[in-house]
Amino acid sequence: MKLILLNIIIIITIAIVNASILADCENNDNNNKQLDDSRNFTGKVVLITGSSSGMGAGIAKLFAQLGAHVVITGRHLNDIQSVANDCQQLSPNKLKPLEVLADLTNSTQLQSLLNKTIETYGQLDVLVNNAGISLMASVTDKQFMPVFDKVLSVNLRPYVELSHLSVPYLNKTNGNIISISSFVSTVPLKTNLAYNVAKAGIDMMTRVLALELGPNIRVNTINPGVINTSLKSDDPLKDQMIKHAISRTLLKRIGQPRDIADGVVWLASRSASFITGANLYIDGGIRYNFGGQ
Ligand code: NAP
Repeated sequence: MKLILLNIIIIITIAIVNASILADCENNDNNNKQLDDSRNFTGKVVLITGSSSGMGAGIAKLFAQLGAHVVITGRHLNDIQSVANDCQQLSPNKLKPLEVLADLTNSTQLQSLLNKTIETYGQLDVLVNNAGISLMASVTDKQFMPVFDKVLSVNLRPYVELSHLSVPYLNKTNGNIISISSFVSTVPLKTNLAYNVAKAGIDMMTRVLALELGPNIRVNTINPGVINTSLKSDDPLKDQMIKHAISRTLLKRIGQPRDIADGVVWLASRSASFITGANLYIDGGIRYNFGGQ
């Protein structure tokens, strides 16, 4: 009798151990699947402003590579088409991006950009506010106010307006707003008042929207350091500025569009699902070493 009881106990113990090993394996499989899936954007729709060049193009290409439908937009058709072709080549299912010519300072064109996105794909998962220009003027310059208005009309107002218009769609998809700010949102630069103010405004817009739009929509910024793009490409001092930036960057290089794209994708992914209202600096540490210039 004792022997039978002992055998039953041994069999039950083995069954429990086996079940727990199986459960562990299943958990591991689920965890591994989640890891594999964290950068899978198949079926997602991503609208990136200023995606016809620079960082925006880099962001669009990475999302396309990760399976998303991407919307490529800017004011020059050739640039849009060239980035769209690259995206289609990189897309695992050779998805053709939506191409939209739009000047974001024009509210009708901005609204039409969003309308075309929804008409084409029926949804919006990620809005990346990225388009921007860089113009400088001292507060004592005659041309100061026109420069100020111009910079804010591209670098801040469309960020607010497109976010405002996108909310109903992002609510449905538990979506994301990611805006490209800058390390200079907190570092003052001489003759850069308009750009500094616009970027500080983007950071604050992000905090307020995070408050208003949680828990359905996450809202964050990326704050790049100096990145290798065409911004300021017509500035004769560009080479000198890059040398200076490298010397001031703690990691002793300027960034590449892919450095920023990786950050945007991560913020949009499930891996960042507890992050909202954040300013993620991808700047090689330059903000600690720039000083008031
Ligand atoms: P970029 O290569 O010059 O790209 C700017 C993009 O914005 C282009 O696609 C441009 O296309 C678009 N754009 C400009 N004005 C527009 C308008 N009125 N309507 C619609 N689209 C417009 O510059 P980038 O360096 O990639 O800049 C992207 C963002 O990063 C900007 O917000 C910039 O402030 C920020 N940023 C840049 C750096 C840097 O070191 N490069 C550092 C920190 C932050 P079209 O000209 O064809 O319209």
